[in-house]
Amino acid sequence: MGELTRSFDWAKTAIGTPDTWPQSLLTTINILLNSRFPMVLLWGEDLIQFYNDAYIPTLNNTGKHPKALGRRAEECWVDEWPVMKPIIDKVLTTGEPTWGENQLIPMYRNNKLEDVYWTFSYSRVLDDAGKAAGMLAISNETTAQVQSFNELQDAKKELEFTLDAAELGTWDLNTKTNLVIGNHRLKLWFGIDSQSETYLKDMLEVVIEEDRPKVIEATQKALEKGSDGNYSVVYTIQNPKDNVRRIVAAKGKALFNDIGEPTRFSGILEDVTEDYQVQQRKDEFISVASHELKTPITSISASMQILQKFTKTGELPEKVSLFINKASNNLTKLVHLLDDLLNVTKIQQGQLALNKTRFNLTELIKDCCDHIHTGGTHEFVINGPDFLLVNADYRRIDQVMVNLLNNAVKYSPQATKVEISVMSDEESVTVSVRDFGIGINPDKLPHLFDRYYRVDALGHQFSGLGLGLYISAAIISRHGGKIGAESTLGDGSTFWFTLPIDS
Ligand code: ADP
Repeated sequence: MGELTRSFDWAKTAIGTPDTWPQSLLTTINILLNSRFPMVLLWGEDLIQFYNDAYIPTLNNTGKHPKALGRRAEECWVDEWPVMKPIIDKVLTTGEPTWGENQLIPMYRNNKLEDVYWTFSYSRVLDDAGKAAGMLAISNETTAQVQSFNELQDAKKELEFTLDAAELGTWDLNTKTNLVIGNHRLKLWFGIDSQSETYLKDMLEVVIEEDRPKVIEATQKALEKGSDGNYSVVYTIQNPKDNVRRIVAAKGKALFNDIGEPTRFSGILEDVTEDYQVQQRKDEFISVASHELKTPITSISASMQILQKFTKTGELPEKVSLFINKASNNLTKLVHLLDDLLNVTKIQQGQLALNKTRFNLTELIKDCCDHIHTGGTHEFVINGPDFLLVNADYRRIDQVMVNLLNNAVKYSPQATKVEISVMSDEESVTVSVRDFGIGINPDKLPHLFDRYYRVDALGHQFSGLGLGLYISAAIISRHGGKIGAESTLGDGSTFWFTLPIDS
């Protein structure tokens, strides 16, 4: 009861002592005192105010408590009275209860008029003779809730605006019901009516048939128990309404509960059709250009081989021989660049055929090391068994090895050593190439095997097209192996690949 007891003395003079109080007032006060919910009672013609302990925090920063106890409501709520009075009058005269949810009733507190929100219910209390004698208000301040709701709404609006400006679709899959909530853009792309409920299976139907399995697989993988929940897949959709095709890049993340069940799966969708078309035109151009270059370069190579034979007879002046050898070396580089471009075309068109044979992988690695021209700067150290039989395409694995070794030398100009290790278990062989060179920033590692990717794309220190690792990755993947890299900037890198035994 606390503060209330003290205020009773004051209240006595206003409405008499408790023993003279009408039964209805006693009952109402009893309800009020026992309530854990903030309650206020305004009693009698003067509307004398009583409230319970639960109401005290609401008054705290107004400076009104405890003065407000047993005081006339009008004196207590001077600034708020114009808003409160009509509501109270209506309840008292009509007897109809009134209520409000999160209603704004500005209030003077903290030395200023503040926007304060209330959820309240006002009802009339009758005296023992059945006449209107007071009003009981159950009243809870909801300013904090309203403010956080408003902030949330603002943040949501901001996010929607950003997503709209970025022209992104959004999706949120309920993993229990398979219902998908999407934004307006997503529905537009998938030809879904804005009002209708959308299930995952409806959306999958819009994915073109050949891409559907990879979308299903990516979804299952993301939702799998123990997965990292990441989802990233590019696929084509065809809008069933206008038949417009779009290539979209979907990215998302699944969240899991304590027992590893997915609880939420949401993400974004980006229309990448134009990027793909530009990429496709670029690929087509490179394909045509490299094929066109192939014929004259093959013919120049043949002539160069003949000329090189002459340099060995000693019939040519020394200077001419020198230039022929220089031209020949540069022609070899040109042929390699062209080969890389032609390889990319083959990979793109799914024509990277393998010609598998059984051979000793260690022997291949030794051969590669012997044939790489380092100009004597680097020593290759091989660790591993002398004999390791694999079933693979010799020429292609040689290409991967040459690329990794060349890179190890190229990107470690200050170093003198490259370490190669070969290991095997029952399932696979792992080859790793460790250099002691410039190393790679960890956040660049995931992109190394992308087409045309170069860490220092604009730098001119190292030449290259950014294709070697892309081609190597395609070759290893065609063999059913894995490829990867680890590195510390400034401390060198380790590139590794695996080949399944007896693949
Ligand atoms: P290229 O060497 O022709 O640029 P690659 O596909 O072989 O193309 O390599 C891609 C990029 O990866 C290179 O541009 C380089 O930035 C980085 N890289 C490859 N190997 C190494 C290495 N051993 N050390 C440091 N960076 C490397």
